[in-house]
Amino acid sequence: MTSGQPDAKNTQCGKDDLIVVAGAGGFIAGSLVRYFHEKGFTRIRAVDKKPLPDWYQRVDGVECLCLDLSHEKTCRQACEGAAEVYNLAADMGGMGFIERFRIQCLRSILINTHMLDAAYRAGAQRYFFSSSACAYNTDLQKDPKCRALKESDAYPAMAERGYGWEKLMSEMFCQEYWAERGLKTFIARFHNVYGPCGTWDGGREKAPAAICRKIIEAKDKGSDTIEIWGDGSQTRSFMYIDDCTKGIDTITHFEPLVATPINLGSSELVSVNELVSIVEEIAGVRLKRKYILDAPKGVAGRNSDNTMIQRILHWEPNTTLRAGLAKTYAWIEQQYQDRKAGKRVVMDTI
Ligand code: NAD
Repeated sequence: MTSGQPDAKNTQCGKDDLIVVAGAGGFIAGSLVRYFHEKGFTRIRAVDKKPLPDWYQRVDGVECLCLDLSHEKTCRQACEGAAEVYNLAADMGGMGFIERFRIQCLRSILINTHMLDAAYRAGAQRYFFSSSACAYNTDLQKDPKCRALKESDAYPAMAERGYGWEKLMSEMFCQEYWAERGLKTFIARFHNVYGPCGTWDGGREKAPAAICRKIIEAKDKGSDTIEIWGDGSQTRSFMYIDDCTKGIDTITHFEPLVATPINLGSSELVSVNELVSIVEEIAGVRLKRKYILDAPKGVAGRNSDNTMIQRILHWEPNTTLRAGLAKTYAWIEQQYQDRKAGKRVVMDTI
């Protein structure tokens, strides 16, 4: 950031200070709560609008609140006494969701707007916002062999309609709360996150989980075909959940990154066809591919340029796709069997 702005002092939050995690009934924030709990933080407040029995994970000893955070009043309640606030609450899903429900995606701006102000009023020391690679200019993503996206590629802006614009505007809110009011905000642009305890069915799931589920289903039902959205040539990178939680923690506690959006993603680029092949290998099957060309498929190609994170943090998400998918596949297979047996599973619908 430029000079003339408040000085960034490194004040680490103590293990008994209150950490607030919004969106904790979902995938990433649920895993972040577990991560902080395992690190020894004793006061964690997890918040989500979903009823508690529907949360993907619950961690013993963590305060769990069911609140709709699109209102000023509930955000004040959520942030009361907080030393650090992590906002990962958003109405979101895979391409099937964000291309169809743009209003719902845009309305997530209410959550960040109120959470940011509530964190500021509560005197929080740090605020983290989960942005997305969907904030990048879509004109740069029209070719599957596109170059990786670096942080400056968000402007001139031409974000993904709905979801991407909400992220870009919310980033700006975070930057201005630092510039004008001195709240230390930290912003990571996630590139496709996957792993155990994530959405795997119901319409909000993303490609890695959807492909695992479809292959498990084909095996279970004795089918020899898998349906793939698009022609399979679209390229993406996928970050394993453990890299994501580590990255959030590291970024939020690294002073030079205050109010500075940074990529948090893997740079291991694969096509959807390659992704399917890896999952087939894990599952020990080969299926015929039926391409659904009019299904939502998003941009043609997107990868994370990790030059900045490597330079600044000397680290980047590094779990190989093969290793992360093996764990994810095993977890989804168990979920699939549990559902068949009538047990409660991780599920979110649209
Ligand atoms: P998720 O859907 O599993 O979790 C989001 C949670 O937010 C849900 O549990 C939902 O109930 C909650 N929520 C929505 N509206 C709310 C409201 N008004 N009040 C309280 N809670 C509310 O999604 P996720 O994959 O864990 O994503 C977490 C964050 O990371 C989101 O901001 C998302 O946009 C961002 N992100 C995720 C990915 C990814 O690949 N998963 C990629 C880029 C960015």
